[in-house]
Amino acid sequence: MKGLFLYIRFNKISNMNSLPIADLHALFLNSSGVSIDTRKIELDCIFFALKGENFDANTFTKEALKKGAKYVIIDNKDYYIKDSTILVDNTLITLQELAKFHRNYLGLPIIALTGSNGKTTTKELIHAVLSKKYNTLATIGNLNNHIGVPLTLLRFTKETEIGIVEMGANHQREIEFLCQIAQPDFGYITNFGKAHLEGFGGVDGVIKGKSELYNYLKTQNKTVFVNLDDPIQQEKTYSINKFTFGVTTDNCDVKITRVEANPMVKITYKDVEINSHLIGIYNANNINAAITIGNYFKVTDELIKEAIENYIPENNRSQLIQKNSNEIILDAYNANPSSMTAALTNFIQLEKDNKIAILGDMFELGSESLLEHNKIVEILKSQKDIQTYFIGKDFYANEIKSNHLHFFENFNTFAEFIKLEKPSNSLLLIKGSRGMALEKTLEIL
Ligand code: ATP
Ligand code: MG
Repeated sequence: MKGLFLYIRFNKISNMNSLPIADLHALFLNSSGVSIDTRKIELDCIFFALKGENFDANTFTKEALKKGAKYVIIDNKDYYIKDSTILVDNTLITLQELAKFHRNYLGLPIIALTGSNGKTTTKELIHAVLSKKYNTLATIGNLNNHIGVPLTLLRFTKETEIGIVEMGANHQREIEFLCQIAQPDFGYITNFGKAHLEGFGGVDGVIKGKSELYNYLKTQNKTVFVNLDDPIQQEKTYSINKFTFGVTTDNCDVKITRVEANPMVKITYKDVEINSHLIGIYNANNINAAITIGNYFKVTDELIKEAIENYIPENNRSQLIQKNSNEIILDAYNANPSSMTAALTNFIQLEKDNKIAILGDMFELGSESLLEHNKIVEILKSQKDIQTYFIGKDFYANEIKSNHLHFFENFNTFAEFIKLEKPSNSLLLIKGSRGMALEKTLEIL
């Protein structure tokens, strides 16, 4: 270790990217972990000074040290502080390389998850199931990008028996890149839907982009988990090692015999009946994937049932909330055409009086945006028993005259209206893109 310090000292302002990653890893193992946010620094961590759109964390070097960081990795020599900073060419690349090195050092099995909808929910469910038998760590929250994946890997330790890594993407080659860092042994793609159409270039682009996980696992001779009811999954995994499940398909490793949602999802497989706390039939496959992966890793049926039944969703994802006299399905975390359609299909079939849908714009749909918003309006046009409030400029652009459909250009105009017309004794569905933050509605109801 001493040699490394000398190296750092004598190469102060030179290109330090030749600093062997193994040496940086040795420092990492002797630290309390990695931080990229000076507001959340732990004593003796290594702080990576990353650059964002609006900030350059190199400028926080002193602050990071003052708050207890052991070292700061910087890529701007102006912030060099003897013995405390390590100057590299690019902090982000160094973080990614360190994560990859650490992943190889640990050698644990890693399950990677991607897909258009349901990644986080599925990840949480798999984590709950596998934790019944193994020391399992998973991505925290939604840390699923080129920074989040490395941070996730760097949380894994020698004690971790299985790692679960959520991978998000909104353009081509992103999943491929994340696979090269995380090097998963197993993978599951939740679905191929209409999300991030803008960056992927349409639905075919989504299929191609997400399938980069399959391509990686195939070339490495690894294993995929497959929902055989999904024709795209079936086709794309044709020649890959797989472990499968299905509801309507019979020749699968785990046969799901019954799926219900009223409104909570209930799943039966073998003789096991699982009553989840998840709303919406679209959550069934998220649960099915967790059951299947649990089976693959030999978690007993009893423990799988217990894990899923104890899982309570949070963060505005498919939550059922009681407020005053109303029951509210709060799904305001995010929306795209696939998840919006899935949520509406579920909502339409619920047999309740006084149904109200509060729907916000779906973002990042590029040139298809108006058309996709129009399709949602069309779905609700025939649902005369559902009073629907559309909020946002793309829904507003599709305004039609109707007694049960109401259009608002922005949240404020909607808020003014709903304050005067407060619903009662109703079942509400609230769903929209993250940027719409429709959970604000709860404060008014
Ligand atoms: P992100 O891209 O933000 O990471 P995600 O893929 O992790 O999203 P979740 O956070 O699990 O997805 O769920 C977000 C929303 O997607 C849910 O609230 C629900 O409306 C919808 N959803 C979840 N699972 C599915 C599914 N299997 N099919 C369609 N929609 C789903
Ligand atoms: Mg997510």
